[in-house]
Amino acid sequence: MLGYNAEMSSLQRKEHHEKLKSKYNNKINAELEYAYGWMGNGNFLDALQNQAPNQIEYCKRSMEHPPLKLLEKMRQETTVQAITLTRKKCEADIMSKPSCYLCGKTLAESIVSITDFSLLKCNCGQQYAHISCADKHISNNSQCGICKKYIMLNHIRHSNLHKTLLRF
Ligand SMILES: [Zn+2]
Ligand SMILES: [Zn+2]
Repeated sequence: MLGYNAEMSSLQRKEHHEKLKSKYNNKINAELEYAYGWMGNGNFLDALQNQAPNQIEYCKRSMEHPPLKLLEKMRQETTVQAITLTRKKCEADIMSKPSCYLCGKTLAESIVSITDFSLLKCNCGQQYAHISCADKHISNNSQCGICKKYIMLNHIRHSNLHKTLLRF
């Protein structure tokens, strides 16, 4: 487009812009400013490079003065498949078994499985434990050994750790 290409550095684009301005004798400055703006737009540069139809569509909506004719032409001529962004799975987290902060044994099959547990909270943060472990611990130490704050104890029944994480 007007001799620009997607690989140009910002300095090269600027130089090319100045060259175009003198070439057209400052007669089409507004158009040249637009073109210069497009070539500095990362989304547009991506579209030029990957030619993906959804990237092209995105440019139409996201750019300030989108080169609609050019984008439409690219859209029609592209043979590339739309880019699909696959969400990273968080299976690893869900599959790992949370363990009791106090005894170290398994607390639940996963952070999403329904269980009874205790939430211990102090200035150091929050920890999960078996209800029996937490009760025993609190009866011996009501204050945190590190931050010296009283430990807030919540027994949470028939819930899952994941939900509780989001709630507190
Ligand atoms: Zn325990
Ligand atoms: Zn603490």
